[in-house]
Amino acid sequence: MADFNPCQSCGACCAHFRVSFYWAEAESLGLPAGLTEPVDPWHACMKGTGRRAGLRCIALQGEIGREVGCSVYPQRPSPCREVEPGDAHCLKARAAHGLPALAQRPGP
Ligand code: SF4
Ligand code: SF4
Repeated sequence: MADFNPCQSCGACCAHFRVSFYWAEAESLGLPAGLTEPVDPWHACMKGTGRRAGLRCIALQGEIGREVGCSVYPQRPSPCREVEPGDAHCLKARAAHGLPALAQRPGP
């Protein structure tokens, strides 16, 4: 089970925070323009994460807490790369979705 990834059966952080980043990041990563929306003149966010009710990233596939995937994983923006299983953001997102806390694990 060395390569067990708890994120594949979670997805909570993709449906809890606004995933915003400097607008040029989307272009440099090759993120399809249709998956992002403007926040202000300098920032964009993943579509679906800029709202309060029903917040969920447009790129998240599957059912939260069961089986999920990111349809743009290789191009995912920096905020997605910063959350680590078991860190404070992870714990907050999982709690908001009624999922148990994870122990923090060393990075890859
Ligand atoms: S980082 Fe935490 S909240 Fe985000 S998908 Fe992974 S386990 Fe879930
Ligand atoms: S781009 Fe992928 S990793 Fe980032 S919030 Fe959306 S589904 Fe999650």
